[in-house]
Amino acid sequence: MSETTKKKSIRWVEEPELGFWETTFVPAVLKGLKTTLRHVTARKTVTQQYPEVKPELPLHYRGVHRLNRDEEDRVKCVACMMCATACPANCISIQGQAAPPEWTDRDKFPKTFELDELRCIYCGMCEEACPVDAIELTHIYDLTGESREDLLYTKDKLLNVYDQTREDHRDPLRTGRGVLGPASEFVDLPALGPATSVPENDRSAKSETAGVIRTTGREGQQ
Ligand code: SF4
Ligand code: SF4
Repeated sequence: MSETTKKKSIRWVEEPELGFWETTFVPAVLKGLKTTLRHVTARKTVTQQYPEVKPELPLHYRGVHRLNRDEEDRVKCVACMMCATACPANCISIQGQAAPPEWTDRDKFPKTFELDELRCIYCGMCEEACPVDAIELTHIYDLTGESREDLLYTKDKLLNVYDQTREDHRDPLRTGRGVLGPASEFVDLPALGPATSVPENDRSAKSETAGVIRTTGREGQQ
C-alpha cells in the first residue's frame, strides 16, 4: 500500500468538546432514562423465566458430550485419537485397546475414554475431527456436580448421555450416517500435492532419500 493510500484510509477522530450541558451529564441521563422507559413500556417480554421455563436452544447448541453407539450397541469410537489431538483445551484422554476378532469393522476401541467437562471450552473441534461420528455435543446445558471428579466424564458416563439423549431427537443432526461416517467412506482420495514448494538450490530436498522415514531396525521388539 502506498503512503498516499495509507494516509487516505486513516480517519482521525478528534475528541469532541463538551459544552455546558454535556458537562452536567443531564442530556446523557435523560437519554438513558428514555431507553429504560422504552423497554419498560415495550410489550415484548425478553426475560426468560428459567428454571420454570426451559430455554429453546438453537439446533447447533454445543453442550455436554456423548459417545455414540453403533447399530450393535457397541461404542462407535475406534480410538483413533483424532478428537484428543484436535482438542485445544487438551481435555480428552483415551486409552485404546485391540478390538476383539469378531469386530471385523475396526482395529481398536477405547479401553478408557475420559473427558474433563470443566476444562472443555465447548468449541466442537472434537466432533468435527471424529471420522466416525462417535463423539458429539448434545443440547444438555445444565451440567452440575458436587466435585471436580463428578465432571470428569468417563466412557460409561458418556455412553449414558447417549442413552439418555438418543430418543430425544434434539441431537440427531450429526449421527445416523451408517456404521462409519463420511470421512471414513472415501474411496477415491485425491493425490496429495507438495506441502511446500522446494527452492531451486535445495540439494537435500532433491536427494534420493529425501522424505524417507528411517527405521531403527528394532521394530517388533517393543
Ligand atoms: S468441545 Fe472443544 S474443548 Fe471440548 S472436548 Fe471437544 S475439542 Fe476439546
Ligand atoms: S475421533 Fe472419534 S473415533 Fe477417534 S478417538 Fe475420538 S471419538 Fe473415538
